[in-house]
Amino acid sequence: MKIAELKDRVVLGAARVYARRTMADYAERSEESQFEVAITRVVELNSVMRRVTLAAPELRDYSLLGPDEYFGLLMPGADGHLHLPDPERSNVRAAISEMPEDEQPGLRWYTIRSIRRREGEVDVDIVTHGDSGPGSAWATSVQVGDTAAFRSGGALYSSFGEERQLIVADETAVPALLAILEERARRRLPGLGAGVEAHVEVPSTSVLDGMEVPAEVVVHVRGTDAPGTAVLAALAGAPTATADLDYAWLCGESGLATSLRRHLVQEVGMDKRKITFSGYWKLGAARG
Ligand SMILES: Cc1cc2nc3c(=O)[nH]c(=O)nc-3n(C[C@H](O)[C@H](O)[C@H](O)COP(=O)(O)OP(=O)(O)OC[C@H]3O[C@@H](n4cnc5c(N)ncnc54)[C@H](O)[C@@H]3O)c2cc1C
Repeated sequence: MKIAELKDRVVLGAARVYARRTMADYAERSEESQFEVAITRVVELNSVMRRVTLAAPELRDYSLLGPDEYFGLLMPGADGHLHLPDPERSNVRAAISEMPEDEQPGLRWYTIRSIRRREGEVDVDIVTHGDSGPGSAWATSVQVGDTAAFRSGGALYSSFGEERQLIVADETAVPALLAILEERARRRLPGLGAGVEAHVEVPSTSVLDGMEVPAEVVVHVRGTDAPGTAVLAALAGAPTATADLDYAWLCGESGLATSLRRHLVQEVGMDKRKITFSGYWKLGAARG
């Protein structure tokens, strides 16, 4: 095994040990895969949300670990061409940082909103917020016929059996929230109003146009306030919503995810290991 890969395993192993101690169980992929994809469809769901379809033969037998499965989208770098990191490396970030600077691809993480294995396609719903980051700049300008690459990721939601669940998302985590609800329905598990409560916080409700969010999902509008403030205030003001929870899934902007987790642990008294949380993006900073 190469030294670089050994280092990757040490770094990722330490992160894994920490995560296993501080959050709910999640599924892990035993082998990485990385392959080129062609863009076969781009649909404007609304003024800030684009549904992009990626196609590749490898997707025909790609299996998902969970409903909120995410993957790494590798995009052309500074020289305008798509150069890929060593597919054997388990730490893709480290592998990219060792490539020549102008060849380094952009890498951002997105949720697989749906997969059609027969066609070898996945749909991804991407929030566009201008060109301040490689992900949004790519999603804003991507066209049918472009190429990018797909790097396998993982899934966080695996708590299907827990009875009382709270699921909270911002606009970037709505694709994952909807996929979780759909997978529960597919497995004929209790859903919204039957033990599962779902909340979405968005800057404005127009962000949800075209996304088919069920009416039972509670929508909070934050306007120009900091992410997390609207949904935290609502949940803190309605203690029954967070009483006797068996599981919580909190994903979206970093401040939203961490402030809600803090509330559930410190104010409500939940065990950290019953909570899944992830800062999908960070206000004012690149997520990387
Ligand atoms: C597991 C996982 C799954 C994800 N799934 C999805 C998904 O399905 N759809 C989706 O749209 N996103 C998803 N995200 C979030 C996405 O990866 C981030 O929004 C990412 O930061 C976008 O990269 P960027 O290059 O556009 O911006 P960055 O380079 O990360 O940031 C540049 C600037 O843009 C700002 N910014 C970043 N994202 C946003 C945003 N959404 N709104 C406003 N400002 C922003 C930052 O605060 C920063 O100032 C997911 C993230 C993770 C970790």
